[in-house]
Amino acid sequence: MLKTPGQGQAFPYTLYPMDSQLLLDALSPDSMVVKPGTRVKLKDFDPDFTGSLKKKQAKALLQQGVEELARYQDMLYAQNTYALLVIFQAMDAAGKDSTIKHVMSGINPQGCQVYSFKQPSAEELDHDYLWRSFKALPERGNIGIFNRSHYEEVLVVRVRPDLLAQQQLPASTRGDHIWQQRFEEINNFEKYLVNNGIVVMKFFLNVSKEEQKNRFLDRIDRPEKNWKFSLADVKERGRWEAYMAAYEDALTHTSTDWAPWHVIPADNKWFMRLTVASFIKAKLKSLNLAYPELEENHLERLKEARILLESEE
Ligand code: ATP
Ligand code: MG
Repeated sequence: MLKTPGQGQAFPYTLYPMDSQLLLDALSPDSMVVKPGTRVKLKDFDPDFTGSLKKKQAKALLQQGVEELARYQDMLYAQNTYALLVIFQAMDAAGKDSTIKHVMSGINPQGCQVYSFKQPSAEELDHDYLWRSFKALPERGNIGIFNRSHYEEVLVVRVRPDLLAQQQLPASTRGDHIWQQRFEEINNFEKYLVNNGIVVMKFFLNVSKEEQKNRFLDRIDRPEKNWKFSLADVKERGRWEAYMAAYEDALTHTSTDWAPWHVIPADNKWFMRLTVASFIKAKLKSLNLAYPELEENHLERLKEARILLESEE
């Protein structure tokens, strides 16, 4: 029996060690996508899921997927109609950074921008919470990556009331209804983006508490990883249950038809990378990207240019 990422749901396919294209297609199961309107229970999603895929096989497929992604990115850039916004959310040490690094490794840096959202600055706190997200949006033709995002506003800010207190919000906004209000605002924001050609993809990298501990210990043990570790991370880990509750509520209320959430099993980095790459690739493919068609006189000018170049001494 294969383990499934969403045990409460029917798994729509079997993973065979098959032809690579089929395998990539098969890695985009509906059960990793949160169906809009369903209540998410994270215990139904297995962070250790890898199907019947082997690490070596996955690495080769990732390489192939990354090359295909680069080809789609080239067309996205040339067509200059859509932008792709990819949002990553996760607990610490789930592998956001390395997933971004691997999945985007083949891509032309000119058409890609990564923005990491940290604790808001004083200037950012003086604005509405989406202000900094607007400023960081990718331009048409580009892929923009949000390493953390506006979702922190319904996650860490929900778990830590002291952060909400810093936001100087009007009295009418204070109270438990603020989270539902923010979910609606975020949904509307993303709808606006999608309507305007900014495609939104959202990934929650679902690491288990046990695996997070292993990765923290690794960060302590390996000198070159020490910089990645801070004692504050262990404090946040102490709030694990509260974070999971906040994630469940956010995933439940902000998985929409226009920007659904993907819950990616993250205990095995090689599986996570391949899955993320194949979802992004499938999305770009679905846009039917094409190089812009040249006008007749442009082709004439190309011919003229050839004649000029060839007649050079
Ligand atoms: P790493 O996995 O390498 O630790 P990171 O994304 O955790 O990367 P850090 O610099 O460690 O980066 O942490 C950024 C911190 O900023 C996180 O704890 C995150 O919760 C916090 N943060 C991001 N956005 C907000 C926000 N809007 N309000 C409050 N805190 C935020
Ligand atoms: Mg951190």
